[in-house]
Amino acid sequence: MSKTEVNVSTQGRIPGGTQREITSILYECFHRFGSLSPYKIDVLLIDTQEAMRLFLRDEKLRMGILNTEQGNDVQSLICTHDIIHNNPRIIVCYELYKEFSKLARFGILRHEAAHMALHGSLEFRIFRIPEECRHTATIKGLDMPTLDTALNYLAAAVMDIEATKFLIKHEYIDCQAQFALELLEPSDKDKETWKGIKLNRPAKFLFLTALLRPILFVQPILDLPRSKKFSAERQIMLNGKIERFVEYLENTEQNKLVQVANIIADSLTEDTHNNVDSTLIHALALA
Ligand SMILES: [Zn+2]
Repeated sequence: MSKTEVNVSTQGRIPGGTQREITSILYECFHRFGSLSPYKIDVLLIDTQEAMRLFLRDEKLRMGILNTEQGNDVQSLICTHDIIHNNPRIIVCYELYKEFSKLARFGILRHEAAHMALHGSLEFRIFRIPEECRHTATIKGLDMPTLDTALNYLAAAVMDIEATKFLIKHEYIDCQAQFALELLEPSDKDKETWKGIKLNRPAKFLFLTALLRPILFVQPILDLPRSKKFSAERQIMLNGKIERFVEYLENTEQNKLVQVANIIADSLTEDTHNNVDSTLIHALALA
């Protein structure tokens, strides 16, 4: 068995079955990760989206937590990870979590477990903007708060693609593909937002930067050689899903986004901080 200590606490009404499901998925994962597993993690299950939002806001105010996986996208809302009192922690929103299929739910928790193994220390909470990016941003008319927000989005995106690669290495493939298939749905809100910001350069840049996250998250699965482990049909389904996910954008933007995502995925190293730097540099092509 894994030696990782998993401490679960709940807020609101969470069925006992869900608590047991989450704990057993995590134990199995940490067992497979072996020595890469954290010593101890906290898991907090919160019943509704509203309760989760309020909890995170209050805690942030109280403690000044830097939450690198912040954002209003569904991906951040189902499940998020941070570090509290030096302990890595996973927060799950039951209301959103329960809407996913069983295989996708395994995918969600394993994704977070991978973050615990790879990004469970404080050094992954703070990222800096490389000097050359400041320069490029100024030329492109982006101010520093915009660049800071983009850095937050992209750091989360880089950690996501690293998590997917790590999970593939540990033979967790189908659950990640299923999670992606259920996650990648363009929302009406996104389509509306896009219409309104197309002509606003900083807003457009941030919008496209945020879209990079789910796209990068699936990239390592799409790059897998076809094999028994991952069928051609599933790969085609996933590719189709990405196409539909960005189809409301103009062709130029769609192509640029896919191109930038490919460049980012190809230039990744083993070092998260280097990866965030180079990702920001490449992502500035979207501005
Ligand atoms: Zn993640």
